[in-house]
Amino acid sequence: MGVYLDNHSTTRVDPRVVEVMLPYFTETYGNAASRSHAFGWASEAAVEDARAAIGALIGASPAEIVFTSGATESNNLALKGVAEHHGSRGRHIVTTAIEHKAVLDSCHHLERLGFEVSVVSPGGDGVVDPDAIARAITDRTILVSVMLANNEMGAIQPIEAIGRLTRERKVLFHCDAVQGIGRTAFDVERMGVDLASLSAHKIYGPKGVGALYVRRSRPRVQLIGQIDGGGHERGLRSGTLNVPAIVGFGKACGLMAEEGVAESVRVRGLRDRLLSRLRTSIEGVLVNGDLERRHPGNLNVSFAGVRSDALMGALHDVAVSSGSACTSASLEPSYVLRAMGIDEERAAGSIRFGVGRFTTEEEIEFAARRVAEEARKLRSDQA
Ligand SMILES: *Cc1c(COP(=O)(O)O)cnc(C)c1O
Repeated sequence: MGVYLDNHSTTRVDPRVVEVMLPYFTETYGNAASRSHAFGWASEAAVEDARAAIGALIGASPAEIVFTSGATESNNLALKGVAEHHGSRGRHIVTTAIEHKAVLDSCHHLERLGFEVSVVSPGGDGVVDPDAIARAITDRTILVSVMLANNEMGAIQPIEAIGRLTRERKVLFHCDAVQGIGRTAFDVERMGVDLASLSAHKIYGPKGVGALYVRRSRPRVQLIGQIDGGGHERGLRSGTLNVPAIVGFGKACGLMAEEGVAESVRVRGLRDRLLSRLRTSIEGVLVNGDLERRHPGNLNVSFAGVRSDALMGALHDVAVSSGSACTSASLEPSYVLRAMGIDEERAAGSIRFGVGRFTTEEEIEFAARRVAEEARKLRSDQA
């Protein structure tokens, strides 16, 4: 199927993750909520180990981890759950123009219910200014939501500075940490984060499982669960736990804790090699976003005069994307790049490369050659 450079949309499950999951399909298959027999206890013990591993990666205690079906659900739960609980105190939310659709669309839903949402734009480098967040907060603000690393152009946001000011203003702080986990420092204590969304399949774990970190002290965050049922996950998220996926998620977090720093150095080296190969083989390579404060595996570039849909249509052997997978069904140029002030034509030509754990040097060389080849061809067809 060619070279895979779309690791922001999803990642290959690490074989070490698959291995620890397998017994939980056919041997330890009890319902983790079954309290009356050993099958249930064994599953529950595995879930609690995973909870501890996931918490440890972000500086949280196990009891602060709520399992969900993924970060889309975590983001919905954080925003709607906090809004529902605190709506009588204030009905104003602050977020940014570059958030994932699961945050922005949850905000739109809340607007229809009478909440007011302030959307802060980033600078041309893709980074949001904490002072702009501070200026948007009013005495009616109940929640600020800012992501850790952007999924399209990789910009890493000043979470610690924003955490300091939300603490000062006594406003809850939610962070969609999906893309940044294991690639850049993230610690809920040090950064003053009250809620954080995580997803297993962006860190070499299985799809369909994620978590919401919910702070239990200083302050104790209160929110209303959005899925009612058996009262699982302390009433915050009912539904039988997906034990094999949770076990895999825990392993994926353990691997990130052990290997994430070294892996990021290697991945960044490959990303930089990709950019330098592109720059030497084709003219008019425009990097979107800042290269320094960036997810190590992310490269987002536009090739002057080349549309990304045409380029991707021609590139059958290199998997890349334009914008995010969630919005790539539409032909609209990326709202993230547009919010950075990038013009429509350049945004419509953007290609997102996501280098990952399993990317090799040979794949980088091949991808750079193929992309340059096809981009050159499209330019000469137009001329
Ligand atoms: C992928 C992604 C999500 C959604 O996560 P799912 O687990 O796929 O629902 C949310 N936020 C960001 C930044 C993402 O990259």
